[in-house]
Amino acid sequence: MALDSDKTWRCSICGFLHYGGAAPETCPICDAKAEDFKEIETAVRPERRDPGQDRFIIIGAGIAGVSAAASIREHAPNAEITLLSKETEIPYMRLNLTRMLAGEFPEKNLPLHSMSWYEEHKIDLRTGAVAERINLTEKRVLLEGGEALPFDRLIVATGSHPWVPPVPGTSLKQVFTVRSIEDVRQILAAVNAGTQVVCIGGGILGLETAGALAKQNAQVTVLEAFDYLMPMQLNPEGSNVLSDHLKMLNIDVVTNAISDCIIGDGKVTGVHLKRGLLIPAEVVVITAGDRANSELLEQAGLTVKKGVLVDNFLRTTHPDIYAVGDVAEHDGVRYGAWAPAMYMGKIAGMNAAGVPTEFGGIPRSHLLKVLGKPMLSIGMVKPTDGSYRMIEDHADGGYRMFMFRDGRLVGCLLIGKLKLMKPVRKAVQARMDMKDFLTLETSAAEVAEYLSAR
Ligand SMILES: Cc1cc2nc3c(=O)[nH]c(=O)nc-3n(C[C@H](O)[C@H](O)[C@H](O)COP(=O)(O)OP(=O)(O)OC[C@H]3O[C@@H](n4cnc5c(N)ncnc54)[C@H](O)[C@@H]3O)c2cc1C
Repeated sequence: MALDSDKTWRCSICGFLHYGGAAPETCPICDAKAEDFKEIETAVRPERRDPGQDRFIIIGAGIAGVSAAASIREHAPNAEITLLSKETEIPYMRLNLTRMLAGEFPEKNLPLHSMSWYEEHKIDLRTGAVAERINLTEKRVLLEGGEALPFDRLIVATGSHPWVPPVPGTSLKQVFTVRSIEDVRQILAAVNAGTQVVCIGGGILGLETAGALAKQNAQVTVLEAFDYLMPMQLNPEGSNVLSDHLKMLNIDVVTNAISDCIIGDGKVTGVHLKRGLLIPAEVVVITAGDRANSELLEQAGLTVKKGVLVDNFLRTTHPDIYAVGDVAEHDGVRYGAWAPAMYMGKIAGMNAAGVPTEFGGIPRSHLLKVLGKPMLSIGMVKPTDGSYRMIEDHADGGYRMFMFRDGRLVGCLLIGKLKLMKPVRKAVQARMDMKDFLTLETSAAEVAEYLSAR
């Protein structure tokens, strides 16, 4: 069936393409408003396909997998949908695990939906079901235990796993990673007031974990291999502001700290650094980054780099297999974040259900939660050459920095107050052209005022 209208509208927030005489009132993917859509020219008009009673399998029931299932159901009322989850819990909000670790968020509030929601949406949720292999020739997913599930279209949403540096001692008792509810339960059981905790990795997850455990009155030290904290999300100035705040929370930070080995006799007693220092520890939490759970698709012969490669329709190199969320790599980016995983899930669900739509990519953004000093980092935050202009200040004991390139807003750091979060997200996503507003004297306060009026 050819699409009936000759106009195409692209959402400037998430890249969703709408076909029709006018922009939609709200974006079905990210809830952006009609004014956030721009009319574009499209060379090739994709066609809708009736999904009928197709069989859909989704591997992984994180936010990407659950969003994909909901989106398929919306567009394919008669399809069979099976959602496989390795974990035994009902799907939950992974991003709130650090809040749970801090004692700010009860475990009972973590589920994304109630069990009855899956029944109402006729989604066959199978918890404790591990996909072991994908047979591409017969289009089947083979489960641990031997069951083989046939599919017409498959969405792989297997997420990622913590990266554990190859140093001796990582298998000692009281050494943890943070990815699942079960990890958080175990860490909470091991940490009491006064427990000496070392977090290996001073990125966003390391700092949130440190902040959460400091709230449990543990004595926390963060080890960062780089010479300043959160090197992926902050510039040195922003990092200084955050380090001062961590001092006030009694969290010790050691930079240029490359771990050599974790020592102990059965139980951990410390972390030894390459530069000779020994940091005492009763508990170690490794927060050194993550890696895509891409083995299933790699074994099946599909193309994998940092993640499983997908095109704008979130299709892998196999036409009936999509990949979304932390496992996927789109246009060179593996996001590792909640909102893109949710958008990708919705968009892949639509494509799999026969409603063509594209993911245009979004600027990478990171939000720091449990430290009591919120932080937003979005887009470009460190200049890579002389063509960038940074406008910054330290208003209200925090920090704000706006990054421009050729008069367009391409990145922003906000530490302390996040009042500007919404307009900033929109403006960076749209690469807002502020040439006519900017002068050599424009201050950060003036940029903030300009954005908040949008
Ligand atoms: C503690 C913590 C805090 C975070 N905080 C934030 C935040 O504040 N903001 C933010 O943007 N992001 C945050 N993130 C990152 C965010 O949670 C992830 O980007 C997001 O959850 C990715 O969703 P996903 O569905 O792709 O993968 P996941 O949520 O990892 O879900 C994948 C699921 O697939 C399952 N699975 C894997 N292999 C198989 C298999 N073979 N068979 C069956 N099931 C399988 C896994 O067990 C898992 O349940 C945080 C992450 C953590 C760990």
